[in-house]
Amino acid sequence: MRVTKVSTHFLILLMAMHLAYQSLEAAEKWPDGNKIAISLSYDDALDSQLDNALPALNQRGLKASFYIVPLSDAFKERIEEWRQLAQQGHELGNHSLFHACLSGKPGREWVQPTNALDDKTVQAMVNEITVANTLLTSLDGYSEHTFTPPCFDQMVKDGNYVEAVKEQFVGVKSLEDPNFAAFIGPSDISSAQIINFIEKQPANIRMINVLFHGVGGDHLVTATAEHAKFLDYLVANKDKYWVDTYRNIMLAKKRSAQ
Ligand SMILES: [Zn+2]
Repeated sequence: MRVTKVSTHFLILLMAMHLAYQSLEAAEKWPDGNKIAISLSYDDALDSQLDNALPALNQRGLKASFYIVPLSDAFKERIEEWRQLAQQGHELGNHSLFHACLSGKPGREWVQPTNALDDKTVQAMVNEITVANTLLTSLDGYSEHTFTPPCFDQMVKDGNYVEAVKEQFVGVKSLEDPNFAAFIGPSDISSAQIINFIEKQPANIRMINVLFHGVGGDHLVTATAEHAKFLDYLVANKDKYWVDTYRNIMLAKKRSAQ
């Protein structure tokens, strides 16, 4: 009886080991070893990103993705700085031309009636996204870009516009398999809370998206010191994490699938 019990436990252990091995086999093999890919993104083209986030990234040699809204004042007035940022190896990403979001959701009072996604058509959004990509190409010289749908909204009045534009991109944030990628959008939280989120992810998660907005200013703010502490953590744990632009991570994912 005792022997049976032990062997049952042994069998369960073997099965668990087999499953663990299988998930290891299925795991993404990134170019920089079998690490967890980290995509740092900064949405909406904000002054505080050029003033606070960018110097902090450059000081540590980390590359990130900046999702541009050409309508933003900080984009219009500082275009040369955004161009230089791309030349430094960071990514300029598509975040649409006008940042249209659904107006009916809670907390969406800021959505202007002329720019509500509810009233747009798929074709209008396809045009908007296409022009935004052309604008990015004229700035950074790249033909391949990635997209973060504003507010992660997808539906317009006659369908799903994100489905209609996804083939224009090497990656679209929010469309990844949730068994592969995790998301956190820091706002008024500490570096410890971001780190805790990253460390508690299950082993099947091979990529973590950290979506910042303001850093030390603007909206959905992460304090400059907390942002810096989080970057320090990533640098101190380079053996565990591969930090790169979303474009580079998605291109590596495509290559590994071939
Ligand atoms: Zn946005």
